[in-house]
Amino acid sequence: MSLHIPFDNSYARLPSRFYTRQSPVPVREPELVAFNDGLAKELGMRTGSEVERALVFSGNRVPDGAEPLAQVYAGHQFGGFSPQLGDGRANLLGEAVVGDQRYDIQLKGSGPTPYSRMGDGRAWLGPVLREYVVSEAMHAMGIPTSRALAATLTGEQVYRETGALPGAILTRVAASHIRVGTFQYFAARRDLPALEALFAYVVERHYPGIESPEALLDAVIDRQAKLIAQWMSVGFIHGVMNTDNTTLSGETIDYGPCAFLDIYHPDTVFSSIDTHGRYAYSNQPNVIVWNMAQLATSLVPLMPDQDKAVEVFTRSVHAMPDLIQAAWLRRFGRKIGLAQLSKTDEALVTELLQIMADGRADFTNTFRALSDGRARDQFLDPNIFDAWETGWRTRIEQEEDPISVMRSANPAYIPRNHRIEQMIQAAVAGDFAPFERLNTVLSKPFEGQEGATDLTYPPEPSEVVQQTFCGT
Ligand code: AMP
Ligand code: MG
Repeated sequence: MSLHIPFDNSYARLPSRFYTRQSPVPVREPELVAFNDGLAKELGMRTGSEVERALVFSGNRVPDGAEPLAQVYAGHQFGGFSPQLGDGRANLLGEAVVGDQRYDIQLKGSGPTPYSRMGDGRAWLGPVLREYVVSEAMHAMGIPTSRALAATLTGEQVYRETGALPGAILTRVAASHIRVGTFQYFAARRDLPALEALFAYVVERHYPGIESPEALLDAVIDRQAKLIAQWMSVGFIHGVMNTDNTTLSGETIDYGPCAFLDIYHPDTVFSSIDTHGRYAYSNQPNVIVWNMAQLATSLVPLMPDQDKAVEVFTRSVHAMPDLIQAAWLRRFGRKIGLAQLSKTDEALVTELLQIMADGRADFTNTFRALSDGRARDQFLDPNIFDAWETGWRTRIEQEEDPISVMRSANPAYIPRNHRIEQMIQAAVAGDFAPFERLNTVLSKPFEGQEGATDLTYPPEPSEVVQQTFCGT
């Protein structure tokens, strides 16, 4: 039975100024290197032969029912407004419909589009596999995210700072790719009919029942507050929280120079282009508020009374830091075994983080070791842990089952930066075993797994990844 995806393409029915119809640009020699059978099943897809999958997920064959297009959007990049961005190297094939849910099926690295600017429209294998592994790991940790359906090699080379690299394409699946920047694009043009159409579309697709722009803003703020708290709770640093990389659905998208904390320090930055630390680990809660303020600004024209709109939206945006803090505290409370929070618990969390920073403790391993009594070993000077531990032990006596709470909040396995780098190097040399192993182990991040202890180790000094790159 040949490959089949149950397409119904609602975005392609929006006015033509929302996108450019465009097919993926065929590649020389498509080769399927990864395929996510579980996700394909969830999408109600018939997978066909490997040859067909290679053709479809490299862009060489447009599958039946697809209506390929490149979406247009705008966005604040590192705080500066770009009035026109768009899918410069991506192609939305269409939406797979499963029950009442729609999923964008998008190729990333599929060739130039009218929005490519100076770019070549392509991706190389490294960032493709990085996004594959990290997005699937995030999903397995219960964090809303786009997902990875397939990765193909193109048989072509792409040229980046470091020279010629193997070209690749990622097929990603998302609740949608509508961004804060999508609203900004039409707001910047004072295109009220388009804003109205986009508002109606987002409500129908993501927030059924919502009737007003202020209710939409509050709903997006709520989802984004929870999302950022989840990122923080696993030590995830997105790296490029531009408004064009912030979704209306509340999912994580656009994995570029993202990375996970090894040693805990709040100021950690990995991205080579983030020279001022705008998107540092601890700044993510501030940035998301700023991004929601940009969303609010672009919703103003939809309100009948503009002054009133500014007043109401300002109140919503100003309420967001407290929402994030509450979501953050719930997550971190669970990380130290507290299902029910009391007033003094916040200090217990912040004190632990402070001594972790002072003691150069590994973020993931310290939290994970709390439940088996070995956290002390994670500190350069274990004495600083002892005082904290006494208070904490007293506190968790009041909890019903702190061990299970901690075990389900503290992953044993995360996609560590040095493992990702090693996996990419192996894949470039033709060995995909480390890639498959990472996917397998990271699919059960909260379960100890036989023979996988090495994946919990922090990097050796020679393995430490100092910087990560967009790969664009
Ligand atoms: P990002 O912030 O990495 O998600 O991307 C910012 C913008 O640059 C988006 O509009 C992308 O489509 C575009 N872009 C990134 N890489 C490329 C590329 N290799 N070719 C064309 N456009 C690109
Ligand atoms: Mg982007």
